[in-house]
Amino acid sequence: RQKVLEKNFSRMNQRQQEAVFHVNGPLLILAGAGSGKTTVLINRIANLIRFGNAYHSQNTASLTEEDCAAMEAYINGSAPLEPGTKARLAVNPCQPWQVLAITFTNKAAGELKDRLEAMLGEEGRDIWASTFHSTCARILRRYGDRLGFTNHFTIYDTDDSRRLMKECQKALNIEDKSLSYKTILNEISHAKDRMISPDDYANAAGADFRLGLVAKAYKLYQSRLSEADAMDFDDLLCNAVQLFLKCPDVLEYYQNRFRYIMVDEYQDTNHVQYLFVKLLAEKYKNICVVGDDDQSIYKFRGATIENIMSFEKSFPGAKLVRLEQNYRSTKNILAAANAVIENNLERKGKTLWTENPEGEKIALHTAFSEADEADYISKKILDGVAAGKKYADYAILYRMNSQSNTLEKVFVKSGVPYRIIGGLRFYERKEIKDLIAYLSVINNPSDEIRLRRIINQPKRSIGDKTISQAAEIAASIGESLFYVISHADEFEPLKRTAPKLLAFAGLINQLISLSSTARLNELYQAILMKTQYIEKLKESENDDAQDRIDNINELASNLIQYEENNGEDTTLEGFLEEVSLMTDIDNYDGNTDAVVMMTMHSAKGLEFPCVFLPGFEEGIFPGVQAIYTPGEVEEERRLAYVAITRAREELTILNAESRMIFGSTNHNKASRFSAEIPEELVNKSRAREWKKPIPGTVLPVSSHESRSASVNAARHFGPAGISQPHKPTDSYRVGDSVRHKAFGAGMILSATPMGNDTLLEIAFDGVGTKKIMANFARLTKE
Ligand code: ATP
Ligand code: MG
Repeated sequence: RQKVLEKNFSRMNQRQQEAVFHVNGPLLILAGAGSGKTTVLINRIANLIRFGNAYHSQNTASLTEEDCAAMEAYINGSAPLEPGTKARLAVNPCQPWQVLAITFTNKAAGELKDRLEAMLGEEGRDIWASTFHSTCARILRRYGDRLGFTNHFTIYDTDDSRRLMKECQKALNIEDKSLSYKTILNEISHAKDRMISPDDYANAAGADFRLGLVAKAYKLYQSRLSEADAMDFDDLLCNAVQLFLKCPDVLEYYQNRFRYIMVDEYQDTNHVQYLFVKLLAEKYKNICVVGDDDQSIYKFRGATIENIMSFEKSFPGAKLVRLEQNYRSTKNILAAANAVIENNLERKGKTLWTENPEGEKIALHTAFSEADEADYISKKILDGVAAGKKYADYAILYRMNSQSNTLEKVFVKSGVPYRIIGGLRFYERKEIKDLIAYLSVINNPSDEIRLRRIINQPKRSIGDKTISQAAEIAASIGESLFYVISHADEFEPLKRTAPKLLAFAGLINQLISLSSTARLNELYQAILMKTQYIEKLKESENDDAQDRIDNINELASNLIQYEENNGEDTTLEGFLEEVSLMTDIDNYDGNTDAVVMMTMHSAKGLEFPCVFLPGFEEGIFPGVQAIYTPGEVEEERRLAYVAITRAREELTILNAESRMIFGSTNHNKASRFSAEIPEELVNKSRAREWKKPIPGTVLPVSSHESRSASVNAARHFGPAGISQPHKPTDSYRVGDSVRHKAFGAGMILSATPMGNDTLLEIAFDGVGTKKIMANFARLTKE
């Protein structure tokens, strides 16, 4: 029996099998990245469902002689295992719906489901594999009435929570300046993580004035939530635990139902999540958690490594399995990851080894600028694809979402398909669409669609009804909507709203006249100032206001860069044309093979053949806030460890000597994390010599220099990176046959000059039509 089972799970190594066949009682799998923790978790579920506790069962009586022969044949490899034999081999197998598998992100949960289904077929679908939040929501939908909620309670997202808290602040006369809603919500979140109720909180606050205010806000916030039949994210967990504590019958129902509980990425659980798991597992104690203390990256959300460290105390008799063999990465990548994480003092310490080949050295590339960095990545990908790789083999992991902007620009221009996980593409973001709409209307006031988009954005009390009326008038007299708005006082039906419409038209007209003389970024700054777009955004105090402001400032980088690249030829129209290329969805389809982009945080648990890590610079990664706090640098270093260990075969780490971000240029040192990788594991390269600034000339070395300095620098040293024309572009004509490194042979369908480049539409054999910029495309003429 054991031999058959071992053969069934023969892909697992000895230690992994130990965990797979450990069926009853608590189990802790503690191991480094890529050692097969998630794989073991999945195989363990398969074993539970197919064979139950057969491996440790002494009783062979239920097996017939035929079964033994069938087993023999299976071991010899001469016949597969029949379902009937399989069923008799099993000892107390469990039902799929008796298994609860919890993981951290929606993406990881999706992947877990897919892998279970691939392994178990139909049955795999009945397993509850989901995140903590959705597991709790599911339970509360069923039993929430026990806590006074209906079954259709609303889940408040972070934005809703903020709005509600602001109402509470008003009601309690708490000035945001003295005690911000952010601080209060943070406090509440921590309290909920510790299961501290508003009353407990008030008691603990005692005479402390500030804490007393928080306590009042907490109390009001909770009562408003329950009046609205609503829960916030933290409540989902808190209430589920509350439900278990208050209603033993419900707890028992779920204890009986979930005979086997498994938690992936256990190092990132917080206290209330621990309680949830602990309560559920208390009866049968069939709990298996897997984790890696070196990959704990959510401390800022209250995650505590303590949960891992004290697992054996919480569940006496727990079996501990350590895995040390890494199956994911080459020797070089693994050695680099080990070397980096060794610099953390606060760790248990373990070393991973691998039988995988040594592999290529880690490429450490220093680019001249952020654009040059993106260009380098794009070229490497195109070369790889030309050599037979898929786009989806490549992942780019960055520290901050806003880093995707420059990469996206270069990818669109060079025709590299990409997908952003857990975020919108830059030009699809609302605020960017709004501001591009302003630029478009300034460029062409009869652009009605965009005019409608911005006429009441930010809010100017111009309602939909007024706009439709104006549009009707425009249609009836054969003039543009903008014309009607500019002459609103001349039309009877618009009399009442005329002052607002005229004010808006006046604003646009001012900007139009400015646009004839101002530089692009000056015009852009004028739009921001006159519309008060950022101020209104701040007032709205939306959850993501700061992100949006970052994006708005980041768009300034694009305008400055465009100007640098096009010099005298810069026009607003040219810029907008370039943007329309970015937003052209022809080049993008959700199912196509595409490069994957996401933050390092969302890449947890995933793996890719080739990984790029841009922005390894002090001030970016580790970030500015982290640099001066040792504890935070350690958390950033764990994130670096997570990022490096996502790579299977190739790893490229990049930094840029100058980086324009949010519209200003910084000169950052290379990250300490890349310096921690031993010399013998890396291949260093840097951007071509001509781009290097000459010491003592205009390029300042201080950080946060103004944009004009970088424009000067560009004038003195030639445009950076991507802007350097590779070849004259006027030589492309419609009908020309060309060859692209990745797409193969094709024919030019159209050629539109843009700045000092040309937008080509090319029909590639077997690939389809692509729009790409000539300078980026690495084309050769046939
Ligand atoms: P992380 O810490 O990043 O979450 P992990 O420990 O969960 O990593 P897995 O994702 O389960 O690791 O496995 C990493 C890779 O190793 C996967 O591609 C998996 O298929 C492979 N793998 C795991 N165990 C084995 C094995 N025994 N033989 C061959 N390949 C294995
Ligand atoms: Mg994993």
